[in-house]
Amino acid sequence: MTEYIILIVVIAVLLLGVGGTMLLQRPRGMHGVRRSRARELDLTGSMPKVEDKTSADTITVPPPAPPGQRPAEPQAPPKPTLEKPPPSAGRMVRLRARLARSQSGFGSALLGLLSRDRLDDDTWDEIEEVLITADVGVAPARQITADLRTRVKVEGTRTPEEVRTMLRIELLTQVETEASRSLRTQRHEGRPAVVLVVGVNGTGKTTTCGKLARSLVGDGQTVVLGAADTFRAAAADQLETWGGRVGAKTVRSDKEGADPASVAFDAVSTGIEQEADVVLVDTAGRLHTKNDLMDELGKVKRVIEKRTAVDEVLLVLDATTGQNGLRQARVFAEVVDVTGIVLTKLDGTAKGGIVIAVQRELGVPVKLVGLGEGPDDLAPFDAATFVDAILGG
Ligand code: GDP
Repeated sequence: MTEYIILIVVIAVLLLGVGGTMLLQRPRGMHGVRRSRARELDLTGSMPKVEDKTSADTITVPPPAPPGQRPAEPQAPPKPTLEKPPPSAGRMVRLRARLARSQSGFGSALLGLLSRDRLDDDTWDEIEEVLITADVGVAPARQITADLRTRVKVEGTRTPEEVRTMLRIELLTQVETEASRSLRTQRHEGRPAVVLVVGVNGTGKTTTCGKLARSLVGDGQTVVLGAADTFRAAAADQLETWGGRVGAKTVRSDKEGADPASVAFDAVSTGIEQEADVVLVDTAGRLHTKNDLMDELGKVKRVIEKRTAVDEVLLVLDATTGQNGLRQARVFAEVVDVTGIVLTKLDGTAKGGIVIAVQRELGVPVKLVGLGEGPDDLAPFDAATFVDAILGG
């Protein structure tokens, strides 16, 4: 019996113990939660300064609109200010020093030889050699030498001033052409003028398009650019950047390798719709085979002509490539009717004789020269300024 009583007491004590523990644990748990929530609140409570600062730095809260008014529209980012390029006139004179620097002393070498006391056969051979080295070409070099020989015979005396005048006249005769050097960039029959820019990649074609667009804008014309060099991924971006700086729209395709003719067509259509003065079309200059080039440029030209005439085909040549450049020029001239030449990089190591050689070769005038990488380093070609620069005048 006593054993039973002891067992009941033990069970009763145990039951009381478990229940008590549970009862004691519950409030402790709740207390814990409360404490952690309290800590959260404490933390948030301790951060207003930081939060306020952060929100002030990153979020601009517009002031509440006065009652009865609509809240203000969010402001668009300001448009980049357009640049005002200088007009084309007088650029070659401004850049003459660069031209003079690049001619590797060919003018002064000729002046030195022609001023010798005795002009024997060896001296005339040397004169011819200087001309050939300056990229004038063999036939023109011979002709210039023969002409100078005749002039010396006729005139007799040779003061330094006379030698200089004689050489100046001879070089001018070689550089001047009967064809006009002006660009056909005026609207006609209610349509924009269209200029197709062709040449081997790397010669400075896209840069020339960009510089020319600037120069035309500087002369007060409106320009649309066509990025029909769809094979060089960066060409369209490059052109768009040039155009964007002076407010000229660039028509391009987002697809790499898109049909150049279709981009050219769209560019001309945009030019017509926007009543632009000029549409400049940059083309790809892949010279795989003459037939490829003929197919591609021929198609671009034909497709443009569905909308309007092509007024100028400018062939871009890198003046530093000498005879190689002339070979390229020949291929292009067989494929399209080139109406003008752009000689780029005449500020570099080019020898100015290439002007004479290429005009003779193609029977087409040099219309523009590139005299540096700066945005306004493209100038209308002027024969007298060019010859004076060669002679260091
Ligand atoms: P594209 O492949 O024919 O379109 O050639 P780009 O227009 O891309 O030009 C090739 C490189 O020639 C670029 O680095 C140009 O800055 C450079 N270039 C173009 N014209 C001239 C110039 O007249 N003088 C100099 N020094 N560099 C030029």
